[in-house]
This record gives sequence, C-alpha cells and structure tokens, in this order.
Amino acid sequence: MAVAGQNLKDQIRKLVELQVVDEEIFRFKRELRDKPAELDVLKTEFESKKNRLKGLEDKLKTIQVSQKELELDLKAKEEGIAKADASLNLLKTNKEYQARLLEIENLKADKSLVEEKILLGYDEVDAAKRSVEAEKALVAQYEKDFAAAKKKFDDEMLVIADQLKVKVSQRDRILPSVRPDYLSRYERILNNKDGLGIVKVVDHACGGCFMHLTEQVINELKKYEEIVTCDQCARMLYLADEL
Ligand SMILES: [Zn+2]
Repeated sequence: MAVAGQNLKDQIRKLVELQVVDEEIFRFKRELRDKPAELDVLKTEFESKKNRLKGLEDKLKTIQVSQKELELDLKAKEEGIAKADASLNLLKTNKEYQARLLEIENLKADKSLVEEKILLGYDEVDAAKRSVEAEKALVAQYEKDFAAAKKKFDDEMLVIADQLKVKVSQRDRILPSVRPDYLSRYERILNNKDGLGIVKVVDHACGGCFMHLTEQVINELKKYEEIVTCDQCARMLYLADEL
C-alpha cells in the first residue's frame, strides 16, 4: 500500500497543480467570453446618442423649412399689399375705395400674424441649433471616450489572451505526469463543474459544494487507495495538510 499510496498522493498533487492552472485558464476564458459584452453596452450607448443627435438635427431642419415657407408667405403678402396699394388710385367710386382699404387692412393683419410666427420661429431655430451643438459636443466627447475604452479593451483582451497562452503551456507541461484515466475523470468533472475538478477538504466539508463529509469519507481520503469524490457535487477531494 505504501508504494501505491505514495503514487496516488503524487497523482493528487499533480491534479491539484493542474487545478491551480485550470482555475486561471477558466477565469481567462470567462473574461475573453464576457468582456466583449461590456464594450457592446458602450457601443449601444454611443449609437443612441448619435440617434438623438440625428433627431435633433431633423427637428432643426423641419423648423428651418417651415421658417422658409413663412418667409415666402410673408413676401407674397407684402406683394399683395403693394399691389392693392397701387390699385387704390385706379378705383372710381368711394365705395370701391373703402372696400379696397378694408381689404388692405386685412392683408396687413394677416401679414403681421405671419411676422409674429417668423419671430417665434427664429427663437425656435436658435434653441434647436443650441440643442444640436450641445449634443454634437456630447457625441464628440463620447466618441473620444469610446475610442479610449475600445483601445483599453483591445489591450486587455490581448493581455488576457497572452496570459491564457502561458497557462495553457504550463498545463501542457503538467499533463504527461498525470495518469490518463485520472486525467479524463478530472477533466470531465472540471468541465461539468465550472472549472473545479478537485477541491480541498475544509473543516470536514467539501471545498466545492461545502457539504459536510462523514468521518468515513475522511478515512477513505487518508488511505490513499483510490480517488475519493464528494457524494453531492462529484468533485475529487483531497486533504491539503497531507500533501
Ligand atoms: Zn462537493
């Protein structure tokens, strides 16, 4: 038993060594998988800011178009008044003259309504322009921030990918010293149990799922006859102070 026990202890040591590396491999892989979502959030925010700017620009355009129409309307009204004014001298009767004067008064009243609208329109155009400028400044700032975040993201991804590579080669160096049957058992658990294949016993409990372990399980562990697993989470167990 002594030789077999020693061998099993060595194998457990190797598996624990592997576990240390695998934990990091899982962490790096998780980061590589999850990080792009953080950037997507920023990208979405950026898009919505750009859409908001587009909306404000469209609003400004609409106001400017209606302002143009009002100006054309004003011009037509002014021409109408000038024409009516010029025609006054050609009228034969006083009645016609009075009627034309009234008409001119009405035209002038219409004209001042349009003028009022135009004045209000100027204010609207100014306000809309200010909104567009403010939003443009925000978008420009955000564009800068986003570019910086993207750069940081790309750099971080490269660093993580490098760290992952280092860990994978460390792993590859440990692999030849692990018995193939133990390795495949360990890897199956590792992949099913979120990167934890072998866990230490902490205060008589499984270090993976924290279930209390019976005295019998602890005794089995101390015998080093075979690999002992947790009844609840199926992870391999080891006694840290025995290694
Ligand atoms: Zn467990």
